[in-house]
Amino acid sequence: QAKARGRARICCYEPAMQEQVAWRLEMEQSLRRALAAGELTMYFQPQVNGCGEILAAEALMRWRHPEQGFISPEVFIAIAEESDLIVELETWMLDGCCALLGRLPAAALPKLSVNISVRHFVQSDIVATVAAALEAHGVEPGRLTVELTESILIDSLEEAVERMQALKRLGVRLALDDFGTGFSSLMYLKRLPLDELKIDRSFVGELDSDPNDAAIVETVLVMVQHLGLAVVAEGVENTAQLAFLEARGCRHFQGFLFHRPMAEADFRRLLAADDACLQ
Ligand code: C2E
Ligand code: MG
Ligand code: MG
Ligand code: MG
Repeated sequence: QAKARGRARICCYEPAMQEQVAWRLEMEQSLRRALAAGELTMYFQPQVNGCGEILAAEALMRWRHPEQGFISPEVFIAIAEESDLIVELETWMLDGCCALLGRLPAAALPKLSVNISVRHFVQSDIVATVAAALEAHGVEPGRLTVELTESILIDSLEEAVERMQALKRLGVRLALDDFGTGFSSLMYLKRLPLDELKIDRSFVGELDSDPNDAAIVETVLVMVQHLGLAVVAEGVENTAQLAFLEARGCRHFQGFLFHRPMAEADFRRLLAADDACLQ
């Protein structure tokens, strides 16, 4: 009887699983075509100080599917990460970021950040790819920040640290993204050659309502000051959050309170307007 039930259960789940697999395969195939078809673009979200001056920006990938419209990077990056497709997509991002940095003087845009997935970081020659992109566009390496997540430490800490050190030797900045959501041991923080830590928006979002989140953010801000790291608070949406962060020494913000991610043309207009204000 148990066997019969087991079989019945398999029958019930099979179609749904097959559909899932088919959907992922289809998405992966359209994503492979997307780059050549010009459906992928870069968006930019400024990072500002408390006065709203733009100090840097983060490049974020966008996919406008011909039928389905914008698909969230949370969805399509996960699909790309299942194959070498992620390497292709992020190599394109890296080149695009360096091209933009090459066109804009450091006074207009001091720094630009790009996200690199774990798979890309550990399974390809990321150091050579970054070096080639910088070189192709004559970009000063210190203007490029590579954002990594804590999951890069799970498989091989030694190898991850070595690669990070090689990137540091090139002169690029390294940031730890989504800090606090993953496998974060304070021991590792000390060993990683990091320049910057980004406090995940899930903590910032509930600063005003969740005392635990407030305590965590407060502790992280004290810690980064001791470690001598730069810190960026992600997902700042209101002035109460901003005031809390500023009162505890945070000087660098990324969030909808200031700017949403935007297309390159809008971003360049914004930078030009920002410049006009200073004159
Ligand atoms: P992330 O790297 O942590 O990027 C920040 C995300 O937070 C962006 O979402 C941004 O739109 C969102 N955000 C910023 N400020 C606020 C705010 O005030 N409120 C809210 N609710 N959200 C805010 P987005 O663009 O949808 O990207 C989501 C994630 O997708 C990124 O998180 C990153 O992990 C991933 N992603 C995007 N592009 C790439 C890429 O080229 N490579 C890799 N590996 N991942 C990427
Ligand atoms: Mg990021
Ligand atoms: Mg993040
Ligand atoms: Mg994220």
